[in-house]
Amino acid sequence: MSDVRQHADDIHAQFSDHIDVSVDDVEERLTTLVDEYKVPIDEARRSVTNHYLEEAGLEREDISRGGSEAANVEDVDEPEQWIDLTAKVIELWDPRSDSVAQVGLLGDPTGTIKFTKWAKSDLPALEEGGVYELRNVVTDEYQGRYSVKLNSTTVIEELDEELEVGDDTSEIEGALVDMQSGSGLIKRCPKEDCTRVLQNGRCNEHGEVEGEFDLRIKAVVDDGIDAHEVIFDKEATEDLTGLSLEEAKEMAMDALDTTIVADEIMDDIVGTYYRIEGPTFGRYVLADDVEELDGPADPEQLLIKARSM
Ligand SMILES: [Zn+2]
Repeated sequence: MSDVRQHADDIHAQFSDHIDVSVDDVEERLTTLVDEYKVPIDEARRSVTNHYLEEAGLEREDISRGGSEAANVEDVDEPEQWIDLTAKVIELWDPRSDSVAQVGLLGDPTGTIKFTKWAKSDLPALEEGGVYELRNVVTDEYQGRYSVKLNSTTVIEELDEELEVGDDTSEIEGALVDMQSGSGLIKRCPKEDCTRVLQNGRCNEHGEVEGEFDLRIKAVVDDGIDAHEVIFDKEATEDLTGLSLEEAKEMAMDALDTTIVADEIMDDIVGTYYRIEGPTFGRYVLADDVEELDGPADPEQLLIKARSM
């Protein structure tokens, strides 16, 4: 089903009890806005919904939902889905744009997810620690990370109950089979909140900058079934390799080459068997707790284990 058709279906479901309108009528209105007037689908949906609200003489609260489905945080794996979430506001962050009224982190027993509430949506303020039923929020995706957006059709209801928040911790046990580029001694952009890794002394956002050294490993760990991408931050890298940032800098200075650090680390860890625990961040697992397991993994054993599962 096309995107527009899906939205038409949702809107139709909301009004079918109130007015005599067909899905085709709704779709035609949406299509006109989207195709002829180049209105973004979110806005088109709002506009068409408003049209039918007026025609039916209803307020927004009066229409049944049915456009969105109840979901858990862990279910969010596709952008542009309309869902209902029951979630707790774990943290509020400072919005960096005037178009955003509130931004922060929501959580439910299955995990956590970023939310954005648009300023123009004119919704009541969410409070840190509050538990809410959020109906009609839209999922979004950016670089493999999902978020939800609260828009002007969103209905917010504060609930008088506690909600346990789960984290998305993963545990992987397997052989570290590869180290990716961007590992070892790297330089990050020093501009506030940026921390992007520099490529040839340049930040994608801020251009040429005086970078700050950091240690990091991006590794692939194979548990015999799947390959997982794991990131080790400075502390985890120092723990894993026994090499401190200072020592890494000295090593690079002596060799007049930063890549020597990555080479050294790679020799040390590739082929070793680890148990790694940590939160998932998009497609990455952030190594929080790392345990080296006995000896290098026997590939033969791994294969047998994989086949038996
Ligand atoms: Zn930067």
